[in-house]
Amino acid sequence: MLRYPMFIEGQAHDPAGGEWFPSDDPYRGKPWAEIAKGDARDVDVAVEAAYRALTSGPWPELTASGRGAVLRRLGDAVAENARRLAEIEVRDNGKLINEMYVQLSYVPQWFYYYGGLADKIEGSVVPLDKKGYFTFTQKEPVGVVGIITPWNSPILLLAWKLAPALAAGCTVVIKPSEFTSASTIELVRILHEAGLPEGVVNVVTGFGNDVGASLVDHPLVRKISFTGADTTGRHIGAAAARGLKRVSLELGGKSPNVVFADADLDAAVNGAVSGIFAATGQTCIAGSRLLVEESVHDEVVRRVVALAATARMGDPMDEATQVGPITTLAQYDKVLEYIAIAQREGARLALGGNAATRPGWFVEPTIFTGVHNSMRIAQEEVFGPVLAVIPFVGEDDAVTIANDVRFGLGAGVWTSDIGRAFRMAQRIHSGTVWVNTYRAVSYLAPFGGVKDSGIGRENGIAAIDEYLETKCVWINT
Ligand code: NAD
Repeated sequence: MLRYPMFIEGQAHDPAGGEWFPSDDPYRGKPWAEIAKGDARDVDVAVEAAYRALTSGPWPELTASGRGAVLRRLGDAVAENARRLAEIEVRDNGKLINEMYVQLSYVPQWFYYYGGLADKIEGSVVPLDKKGYFTFTQKEPVGVVGIITPWNSPILLLAWKLAPALAAGCTVVIKPSEFTSASTIELVRILHEAGLPEGVVNVVTGFGNDVGASLVDHPLVRKISFTGADTTGRHIGAAAARGLKRVSLELGGKSPNVVFADADLDAAVNGAVSGIFAATGQTCIAGSRLLVEESVHDEVVRRVVALAATARMGDPMDEATQVGPITTLAQYDKVLEYIAIAQREGARLALGGNAATRPGWFVEPTIFTGVHNSMRIAQEEVFGPVLAVIPFVGEDDAVTIANDVRFGLGAGVWTSDIGRAFRMAQRIHSGTVWVNTYRAVSYLAPFGGVKDSGIGRENGIAAIDEYLETKCVWINT
């Protein structure tokens, strides 16, 4: 079986405790690789390495444009190794090979874009109200950053954090999910082959409550950038507060996808199906609540069910596959449990509802109608291929239902009325609203949540501030 050691200070690093744990292939439902089971001792080695690289050696010596040039080389390296990275992710995560090719064609953009911003980070002269001083600000890297990522899109979500952190001049220690560590280790190895100085980017692997918690608590780590579940985010936020560290939290969602009767229904039906079933529903922005105006409810349901029923489940390496496996066994059990809960609560099963009979962890695309927004299936993040359809009457009702949830990450609105599109975009409480589209993301467009979906924004110019401190210098003239 393949073994993936950690990666610290430019080289492979075996776990201090000498233990390894299996990483599963969700399509086959069995282990395919072994991952190093790190602990606090390995975290210490990695953070010390990152701190050395932050304070001495080639990284702090680079000019801002020199850092930009390194980032552009890293982007090229990701592009050149896209196939290798895609195949690991498919094996480890169960993501579709087609989806991985698309993702990996975008990932270099984060390195190019933030590489381009590295030499545009400026301070300013402060217009003081007293004479005798020259006072100015300068931007500095926040320090060693702990990056903690989830299992659902390991490379893409890492790039969102890593590229701005490096552009700001930080060094990092990454803790990928214990379920999908392999692609992160491979990516970091590739970045070093492309000339990244030792110690600037390090990876520790293992379990959240051990390695993850040690990284959050380490006194030399000054900022935690986390993507994952809201329960974990609360925990990390509290631990970071105890250590007086900065923190960004990208958490879960229960996003409404709202279809008005005046919408282009062909587009809305496609957007509803891909909104929930892409990546087998395992995305934070999954459009898991489909709100449909009552007058077109039955027609939309019929068409959404008919389209979803054609989705081809199978081998994620096969380019014809449209629905892959659930990434982890625990998540598979959780999705099936939510399907049972929805049935007990009285929702009507319109499609699917079963585990598929394969060795791997497959759940059929599942659609519930007759859902009331107070049901658990409408309130809690399932993180799987399960859609809850909820009828509404008019704009006010749609807004009330859309906002009646503790999350606020994404939302879709389908309408041909421009005024309504603007009104809905203002009234829905979420970090992103898509009108007549769904799931679009870009390195240029700020992304993040309101309410329980998190704190902070990734992507776009402002994201670099998440990794910068402002220093104020007073000169007595
Ligand atoms: P998770 O919270 O279980 O794990 C995420 C990471 O946190 C893992 O690396 C894990 O090991 C680590 N971790 C767990 N406990 C920790 C602790 N006490 N201290 C430090 N680290 C700890 O999440 P998951 O199941 O891997 O991912 C799914 C969740 O991520 C969903 O809720 C989903 O909505 C969310 N997500 C959000 C976004 C976004 O951008 N908002 C994107 C993708 C996924």
